[in-house]
Amino acid sequence: MNVSSGVLAGEGGGGVPAGDSFPVLGLDIGGTKIAAGVVDPTGSVHSFVSAPSRAEEGPAATLARLFELGRQAVSESGIDLAEIGAVGVGCGGPLDAVRGVLIAPPHLPGWHDVPVSQLAAEAFRLPVTLENDGTAAAAGEHRFGAGVGTRTMIYLTISTGVGGGAVIDGRLYRGAMGNGGEFGHVTVDCKGRLCRGCGRRGCLEAYVSGTSIAERAHEAGLLGATAEDVARAALAGEPVATSVWNDTVEALGCGLTSIVNLFEPELVVLGGGVVRSGEQLVGPVRDAVHAGALGPAASARVVASFLGDHVGVAGAAAIVYDRIELGDVRAHG
Ligand SMILES: [Zn+2]
Repeated sequence: MNVSSGVLAGEGGGGVPAGDSFPVLGLDIGGTKIAAGVVDPTGSVHSFVSAPSRAEEGPAATLARLFELGRQAVSESGIDLAEIGAVGVGCGGPLDAVRGVLIAPPHLPGWHDVPVSQLAAEAFRLPVTLENDGTAAAAGEHRFGAGVGTRTMIYLTISTGVGGGAVIDGRLYRGAMGNGGEFGHVTVDCKGRLCRGCGRRGCLEAYVSGTSIAERAHEAGLLGATAEDVARAALAGEPVATSVWNDTVEALGCGLTSIVNLFEPELVVLGGGVVRSGEQLVGPVRDAVHAGALGPAASARVVASFLGDHVGVAGAAAIVYDRIELGDVRAHG
């Protein structure tokens, strides 16, 4: 077995079969939900299961449930575990994608230096990759989804928090340790709302995450309203919800225009729970980018995620295939 950076082999387990024709088990660790699915090289998701994260129980308990969910996903896929070539894990950072360690993700309080790749390799006896979930989702949309065939693409996930990833000149951008593309912490108002994710002020995440939408709705008097409630009420013309929603759209349009000016992407893909509101969000944000971005960058297409709820597991699997092609994960010969 060749063991290279970012990949840990299960002791006595099977190596990665030659080529990248095998299915992969994708695992996604979110702040509210964990998910697992078996994904093949064409991007077909053969099974998908999810459960609450209950991250406050600590890494050992949550990871045990995640791995059980993974076994359930394999069983429901109808594919034998022996045919699965590797496990891809996606999780919010900061993390060390090279060593496969979660450093201290803000959405998983109390999780410090958790060696996720090693633990997953022991559980499944397979090679494992760990990647930032936003980066993984970008890889998923680029390989299997809305971004197929594009050279320069930005992915932005808007859910409990805000994350993202970039494909530049046809290659996934990672940063030095796998934490590049944290678009949620692009500043839209440097004296603005406190950002819980990073402690600075006025980050995009502090205005457009599902958490922030609910929080701002609460401050405006819509007690207990979720982001989904706010979207629905705004669509129905309720004035307070409309104001909260318009502020959300404005902040997202502002932050995304800066991102588009930085990268001049052909395509921007918006995913995550908040984007279930569809054109109610994507439409005005697209208009803002087209009106505000500089020169040819303003012609970037802005679309909703193609992979939807499967983007986490499909993205985690896409990372495995990407790393094989880069020679980072080696085929077992
Ligand atoms: Zn921030």
